[in-house]
Amino acid sequence: MPPTQFRTIVERIDSLAYNVRGFRLKLLEPSQVEFRAGQFIILHVPRNGGVVKRAYSIASPPHERQAIELCIQHVEGGIASTYFWGLKEGASVVVSGPHGNFLLKEPLEYDPVFMATGTGVAPLRSMIKDLVHRRFTRDVWLLFGTRYEHALLYESEFRSLTSLRHNFHYIPTVSRPKNWQGDAGHIQQTFAKYITDASNKEIYLCGWLEVVKAIYQDLASAGVPQEKLHYEEWA
Ligand SMILES: Cc1cc2nc3c(=O)[nH]c(=O)nc-3n(C[C@H](O)[C@H](O)[C@H](O)COP(=O)(O)OP(=O)(O)OC[C@H]3O[C@@H](n4cnc5c(N)ncnc54)[C@H](O)[C@@H]3O)c2cc1C
Repeated sequence: MPPTQFRTIVERIDSLAYNVRGFRLKLLEPSQVEFRAGQFIILHVPRNGGVVKRAYSIASPPHERQAIELCIQHVEGGIASTYFWGLKEGASVVVSGPHGNFLLKEPLEYDPVFMATGTGVAPLRSMIKDLVHRRFTRDVWLLFGTRYEHALLYESEFRSLTSLRHNFHYIPTVSRPKNWQGDAGHIQQTFAKYITDASNKEIYLCGWLEVVKAIYQDLASAGVPQEKLHYEEWA
């Protein structure tokens, strides 16, 4: 689908962590969107008679065509995220898209390993839900990192997916644990612990530029071939 401008309304707002909210935007005009898992939309923020634009990854899967879900971190003083924090259910929002080339490599003849910190998990959630919808049976890994255990996003959703789908391996990793029994440290360490053979894997990284750069460099130095590393970095 070529990038299109959509009129939407905020259908639902969920608190996902102390500084992250989920926004479900119902599409009004056009009423459906076609996109691929991993793509993003551009949010149009009305400001001083003009428009400020920001990119947000679509966190919902492509088969849900009548609404899109976004997962947004509040940035102190940030124009777009503060605009979102002021929205109530029923508010109008304009977005355009889809955009982006951070996509699952096809054909799916490999085990995907998804790695993200914070809201970087948004496009990976879309990809994971897409794989579930497509009844993908190979192993799928999600190595998800946050600073604190209370900042893990979509925690109950990912945990229930592990009990429903035996091929889905969810390894949350906390870098500053307080009362946490799971893996601690950075997701590169989690990768080294669980992904012993990268030969049948493709690795998808997403998040803020510095984090993605650090993970990429660590995996490349550990011998993961660069052509297996796919990433989207937010600057
Ligand atoms: C392809 C793409 C997809 C994206 N998807 C998402 C997404 O799914 N969820 C999401 O939350 N963001 C996402 N972003 C980031 C988003 O586009 C904005 O940059 C972010 O929301 C901040 O915008 P703002 O207008 O609120 O802040 P701005 O007004 O742009 O920034 C205010 C100040 O805060 C700094 N800043 C911005 N973000 C951070 C941060 N996280 N931590 C510390 N300082 C920061 C800026 O450098 C600036 O100095 C994505 C970016 C790209 C390029």
